[in-house]
Amino acid sequence: MANLNRRQFLQTLGLASAAGATLTFSQLSKAANARPHVVVVGGGFAGATAAKYLRYWSNAIDVTLVEGNATYYSPILSNLVLNNQRNLGQLSFNYNTLAQKYGVKVIQEWADSINAPNQSITLRNGAVLNYDRLIVAPGIQFMDVQGLDSNKIPHAWQAGAQTTLLQQQIAAMPAGGTFVMTIPAAPYRCPPGPYERACVVADWLRTNKPGSKVVVLDANPAITVEPTIFGNAFAQYGVQYVPNATLQSVDSDQKIAYTSAGEFKASVLNVIPPQRAGDLVTKSGLANVGGGRWAGVNPLSYESTAVPNIHILGDSQGTGQPKAGHIANAEAKVCADAILRLLAGQQPYAAPVTNSACYSPISSDTASWLTAVYAYDLASGTMKLVPESFGAAAAPSNKYYNRMFDWTTNLFNDTFA
Ligand SMILES: Cc1cc2nc3c(=O)[nH]c(=O)nc-3n(C[C@H](O)[C@H](O)[C@H](O)COP(=O)(O)OP(=O)(O)OC[C@H]3O[C@@H](n4cnc5c(N)ncnc54)[C@H](O)[C@@H]3O)c2cc1C
Repeated sequence: MANLNRRQFLQTLGLASAAGATLTFSQLSKAANARPHVVVVGGGFAGATAAKYLRYWSNAIDVTLVEGNATYYSPILSNLVLNNQRNLGQLSFNYNTLAQKYGVKVIQEWADSINAPNQSITLRNGAVLNYDRLIVAPGIQFMDVQGLDSNKIPHAWQAGAQTTLLQQQIAAMPAGGTFVMTIPAAPYRCPPGPYERACVVADWLRTNKPGSKVVVLDANPAITVEPTIFGNAFAQYGVQYVPNATLQSVDSDQKIAYTSAGEFKASVLNVIPPQRAGDLVTKSGLANVGGGRWAGVNPLSYESTAVPNIHILGDSQGTGQPKAGHIANAEAKVCADAILRLLAGQQPYAAPVTNSACYSPISSDTASWLTAVYAYDLASGTMKLVPESFGAAAAPSNKYYNRMFDWTTNLFNDTFA
């Protein structure tokens, strides 16, 4: 590529003839020495989508996806494993299509550290990967809760073995027992998810374990989303909802949650701990907003506001957009487009729009939904909710339950297929 001129280079990136594109000679010579290399850490809804779309939109760059697990289990729909409407196999994905159809190089390994000045990362096996641009999308990390042993008290907030453990505990619960769950203060992964779980479990218990009770201990002052839908369902199922119940500690053997609203003994205890950005973000100096829990980024490109050439996506980012898979997929496309433009010496698209959508099962055959659009606000440099875009189901229904699977099929395909 040494003899490429600027126009030829832009053409190879598939971005030629964009008026006003400016490529400096240093950028051109760096890029001309080798194909630009983008490394993506984390193959969830954010990272897998970014890796796929970078290659879908350009044959002129190399993309490496570093993911610690061979199989990804979708947290979306995983509450339906608890009431036996889905099994984990139906929620599992691998990275073969990304590799074979899109030419993403997939490395199954954990990324250990980032050397930002050298533009390289080191994997757990000692391998070093150089990058022109790095995308970090490791999801969430749970914060410590005194006394909590997740092998005994599952969170089931990352899907997989934890989901199976919670499902088995609920299945083994005695009739007349008490299912207690805790919800951390916002922001946390999937705003409606905990309330959805309480509904699904309460619905299942009332037919399968008569006389059982569900107690929801919420660190928030009120139900954070869809309060009417969830409030009505709680009333219908007899769920005891306790607001302002901040978790202080757990007795993992006795299954007791100690909170600011008192202590609660459970037959099955489900603690969803407070969350922060994934470890790679926090230990690399990228978590610079939200009290050091999340990564500050420029929402035009998702490039870190702390360290250049590193982009953070999905639940780890701190733009104020919800921590959810549908919008993580949208953020990933904004980021992939911006990286291709930046590699070609252009500026990112100036008016990105993202969309969030959540379907929440309320029983084994009804669901509600919630959606919102976010648009870039030039004055503040942030993504802002477009008020007129906000929509929510008036009431749960079987029609929405069936549409939920159409929606997830689309999202899963757009991410992994
Ligand atoms: C019960 C439940 C219901 C939900 N329902 C919805 C819904 O209806 N709609 C919606 O939009 N969202 C929903 N969500 C939220 C959604 O699942 C998450 O927001 C989404 O998974 C975030 O995507 P992510 O890519 O940021 O993180 P993740 O999906 O967690 O992916 C991160 C990946 O990074 C990998 N990784 C981490 N660290 C490293 C490392 N150092 N090296 C290599 N790999 C690493 C992990 O193994 C993982 O595969 C729900 C969540 C739950 C728990």
